[in-house]
Amino acid sequence: MASPPRPLDLRPILLRDGEFSRAVFEDFAFQLYSAAHRHRGDDTLTPYLSETAASQLTKRGAAPQQIVIGTLRIDNVATAAPFVVPAVDKIRVRIEATLLLATTAVFAVETWTFVRSARAQSRPPTSTRTWPCPNCGAPWERAAARTCAHCGQNVEVGRFDWERVVRSTRRSGAQPDRPSPSMAAGA
Ligand SMILES: [Zn+2]
Repeated sequence: MASPPRPLDLRPILLRDGEFSRAVFEDFAFQLYSAAHRHRGDDTLTPYLSETAASQLTKRGAAPQQIVIGTLRIDNVATAAPFVVPAVDKIRVRIEATLLLATTAVFAVETWTFVRSARAQSRPPTSTRTWPCPNCGAPWERAAARTCAHCGQNVEVGRFDWERVVRSTRRSGAQPDRPSPSMAAGA
């Protein structure tokens, strides 16, 4: 058995944001992956998914009934390059999961990229994960497009918290269903 790959060095992010925690970020990505699939097509997660990411999810059809994440790991980090506007840091995460749909199970390997403003700082983690406005913390309610109805701030492109921008699926396929018991019994 091959040993698992060594965890990626996150010092570039830590130099900017002393409060950044790998465990907290991985938990955030884990929770967001499940929530984003469950909420395909609605706007619960608007502050956390770019329009591109949200539309990619919507195009995948009905939400799975259950999501089982096998592995999730950070496979790349990139801090903002000088003179590039907007200045964003990026974290790429590779996720292997099984999505259980009504009649089939889909095995997916997805690469999700998260961006956040290079000026943003991590906040203390909360024990129960909800998806509020990343600026004021109020339950997400949109005033217009991607503007919070409570604080009036536009939450565009990871200004306040990590936002997932794009996805690429490396591999995805249906797993063969077991033969149906009723057919096997010939009843
Ligand atoms: Zn707000």
